[in-house]
Amino acid sequence: MQTIGIVGAGQMGSGIALVCAIAGLDVIVTDLDEHALKRCIEGIAANLDRMISKGKTMPAEAAAALERIKGSTLLTDLADRDFVIEAATENIQIKEGILKKLDAIVRPNAIIATNTSSVSVTKLGAMLDDPSRLTGMHFFNPVPSMALVEVIRGIQTSDATFDATVDLAKRIGKTAICVRNAPGFVVNRILIPMINEAIFVLHEGHASAEEIDEGMKLGANHPIGPLALADLIGLDTTLAIMNVLYRDFNDPKYRPAPLLKEMVDAGYLGRKSGQGFYPYP
Ligand code: NAD
Repeated sequence: MQTIGIVGAGQMGSGIALVCAIAGLDVIVTDLDEHALKRCIEGIAANLDRMISKGKTMPAEAAAALERIKGSTLLTDLADRDFVIEAATENIQIKEGILKKLDAIVRPNAIIATNTSSVSVTKLGAMLDDPSRLTGMHFFNPVPSMALVEVIRGIQTSDATFDATVDLAKRIGKTAICVRNAPGFVVNRILIPMINEAIFVLHEGHASAEEIDEGMKLGANHPIGPLALADLIGLDTTLAIMNVLYRDFNDPKYRPAPLLKEMVDAGYLGRKSGQGFYPYP
């Protein structure tokens, strides 16, 4: 396993590219959007500079890692990859379309993983001629500093595919937990409804965003409050995950908070759009 392909150069794709390159792997990141690719490479360079200034890496190592990352707008550039990670927008139609194309492009013995936060890995596997080569490889944000990867086994995932995904997670310095496919997997099934509840509390006027976040930091010992975390994750992604939990469990306890829907409709997506529960000028 030496060559990695990543589809989607957003916040997750950029972070995954960085950790793979630091681990010595050769990376191609693709995106439909040239601006996203430019932001991705610039962001990775800035991240490496910060790592140098903190003494976490040497300038020569950082330069070599950056050299190992290439950007492309063509999915076909991933044809020679050993392992491809889909990290595009959390939308089932987009993911199904990408996976169908990847299946035809990448070598038959290459592994394909999806970084989806909530879509069924089993359902996405059904898009491939050989569903045994798909796993879920769910990273956490920000990827360089979050230690966990959930490795998700769809019903069709082979042992070889699953084991290779766990090995890759370890190789890039992450701790893997092994999870059977289910809506929200493990962490998001617990975390995202908690964030959604915080949005209900805000909407019902019981406390301000700052007070809710302060309450959960000091009262529950969370390093970041739920509303600031929603801004970090992206409100569109948070809503997409709630919608999947609501639909797949068919249980009203997972209904998305109306304020979350309204903010997404307004384009208030959190840090990435400059406005969420807090402003990011
Ligand atoms: P993002 O909005 O920052 O980036 C998504 C990128 O995908 C964009 O650059 C977009 O141009 C690109 N894209 C869309 N359609 C595409 C296509 N057909 N081909 C190629 N590129 C395409 O989103 P993100 O936060 O990086 O999330 C990406 C994935 O990672 C989602 O599935 C999300 O659920 C998952 N994820 C997100 C987080 C998080 O905290 N944000 C954590 C874990 C997993």
